[in-house]
Amino acid sequence: MSANSYKMFINGDWSISGELFADYNPTSGDVWAEVPDGTRAEARKAIEAAAAAQAGWAALPHPQRASYLLKAADILEKRQSDFASALVEEGGAWIGKGMFESGYTPGIFRAAAAAVYQMTGEILPSDHGKVSMVVRQPLGVVAVISPWNFPLLLSSRGLAVALAVGNTVVLKPSEETPVSGGLLIAELFDEVQLPPGVFNVVTCSRERVAEVGDELISNPHVRGVSFTGSTAVGRQIASQAGSLLKKACVELGGKDALIILDDADMERALNAATFGTFMHQGQICMSVERIIVDQSIAEDFTKRFVEKVKTLNVGDPHEMGNVIGPIINQRQLDKIHSQVTDAVDKGAELLTGGKHDGLFYQPTVLTKITPDMQIYKEETFGPVAPVITVNGVDEAVEVANDTEYGLSAGIITRDEEKGLAVAHRLQTGMAHVNDSSVNDEPHVPFGGVKNSGLGRHGGKASVDTFTELRWLTLERGGRHYPPPFVVTQT
Ligand code: NAD
Repeated sequence: MSANSYKMFINGDWSISGELFADYNPTSGDVWAEVPDGTRAEARKAIEAAAAAQAGWAALPHPQRASYLLKAADILEKRQSDFASALVEEGGAWIGKGMFESGYTPGIFRAAAAAVYQMTGEILPSDHGKVSMVVRQPLGVVAVISPWNFPLLLSSRGLAVALAVGNTVVLKPSEETPVSGGLLIAELFDEVQLPPGVFNVVTCSRERVAEVGDELISNPHVRGVSFTGSTAVGRQIASQAGSLLKKACVELGGKDALIILDDADMERALNAATFGTFMHQGQICMSVERIIVDQSIAEDFTKRFVEKVKTLNVGDPHEMGNVIGPIINQRQLDKIHSQVTDAVDKGAELLTGGKHDGLFYQPTVLTKITPDMQIYKEETFGPVAPVITVNGVDEAVEVANDTEYGLSAGIITRDEEKGLAVAHRLQTGMAHVNDSSVNDEPHVPFGGVKNSGLGRHGGKASVDTFTELRWLTLERGGRHYPPPFVVTQT
């Protein structure tokens, strides 16, 4: 099958850049698509188009802005199978994950449409009898940079509310998923006839990303940045944006814990651990990356967990029965395998997995984990479960917090009050009692603390992220100069 050739979407126009780069299918290793390798010049063109369109877009009545998002949601629903298929082909998603992601994303657009009604301000009391108002205004042009692991969902999360509240957007999807994370979204907005320049997609290869990324952050028209990706790149982007006094919301990596307390419902624990660790081959920012289990149930849990993990089928992700598909690329696979090897070399016990066939990495369980192992501290982003045994609640909390990251967490216990008390003690942006760390909904404030990020996406939190507050007053003639207490000399 010959690869599809794509064009970029700039100023309502499907323009092409001179060179193309290969977009690989990680299951087959074949080139699935050829995509424009954009340069600084295309990024600038897109930003200028977005800047020119912004005032007109922001001036539209808000139900009109919302209606574009609602129509895009409807079209996405009708074309769900195209989107799911692209997620499988270029992202290596198991078909169930592709269906989930393409089925979930219309809700992001609908929640964003509703956010136009959350552009609320305030009337303040005034010391001087003025009408004193706080209003919200869009930032201007927002650059959205997104990752490959949930490309459709995470690009949409970055851009939908930004658009709804009156910003215009330039999206740069990951070089691993430029179609499902960018160009297919452009097709939606093209079909709903969004005014030209309001939404633009610039694609580029990893070789060009430093140049394109620099333009996206430093161009003076860009006033806000929404970044989702690794902590290393996010830190660099947030620093650059900060030095230019631009607002940046950065959603970064994680090393999330699933704490299983001594009174846990074992079935619930097994399901949360298996789903949380292995969904999408563990390539989720809030994947369970450490299972912290109380010693009183550790042996029983680990035995049953390994039995369950051995039932997960690895293989062609088009098959509904194969819940474990390929790792996105060789670089990621090498990182996963080197962490597993490092752990085993330092004394970890490999209970299952630890091998790979091409990019297909077997679901892996390790015990006897110690803090000197890379897998204890570093984000793995793969289908690997390190099981750590602790003695009691305090030690569980201490180990869970012993990380530079702080995205999400799960706590399994039959005692709901105790579960919430533990949730309050965890240094994370999100925590879920009796569930895994993997949870999201379009309207919730999603984000992390520590090295997992800065700022929040979702619903009202996105309205805060993508708007500025302004103070406006209306004076009604009560202020005199010189002031009345000044006694004039005669
Ligand atoms: P990445 O940081 O390598 O890439 C993310 C995006 O940044 C891509 O579009 C990439 O092209 C771009 N990029 C890379 N270098 C750049 C530069 N110098 N300037 C501008 N842009 C640049 O991350 P990834 O491998 O695509 O995604 C995996 C990471 O993302 C993991 O660490 C994961 O935890 C994290 N993630 C976080 C969340 C969250 O919401 N917290 C969600 C998903 C993924």
